[in-house]
Amino acid sequence: MKSNTKITKPRLLVSACLLGQPVRYDGRHNQAKIEQIQTLYRALEIWTKTDRVVAICPESLGGLPTPRPAAEITTSQGDGHAVLGGKSHVITTDQQVTTRAFIEGAQQTLKVAQSNNIKLALLAARSPSCGTGQIYSGDHNHHLVAGDGVTVALLKQHGIQCFNPGQAGELLQAMDEDHPIKL
Ligand code: SF4
Repeated sequence: MKSNTKITKPRLLVSACLLGQPVRYDGRHNQAKIEQIQTLYRALEIWTKTDRVVAICPESLGGLPTPRPAAEITTSQGDGHAVLGGKSHVITTDQQVTTRAFIEGAQQTLKVAQSNNIKLALLAARSPSCGTGQIYSGDHNHHLVAGDGVTVALLKQHGIQCFNPGQAGELLQAMDEDHPIKL
């Protein structure tokens, strides 16, 4: 008897700026970060052609314009997880508090991931939204600290594995067709 189980390859949520979309705070993109990693660049081309890539920009989804003032999490009070818990904030270089927009962007991103049954994400490094494992400290002076951005924190809390471009090997393995998702 034929099984009704449909096997499909995993899809990937990707920061739009890594795919060349000019959505960064300064109106530029981060595609060069991917072009430096040839295996990942080629894989993304193939995954895009085969409809396995879903591009998102959490800060745009949160209603912020482009360009916009650069923002950082006040990491002395905690990273993106603390922002979601109301214990830390996101503040721009001109001292505007943009926490609400960052949380809204994270929630919208999670909705996109869940509606596409996505369990894996490739996100731009060090961003207060998309940073995985390392973000800017909040002093707006290029200092880095361990921690997650707001969107990454929410995605992780809902079981979505998050990778930055420096983790290309692990991501390629997770996306491999030998590890299909059963629907
Ligand atoms: Fe890129 Fe994420 Fe910043 Fe949008 S929020 S510009 S996708 S790093």
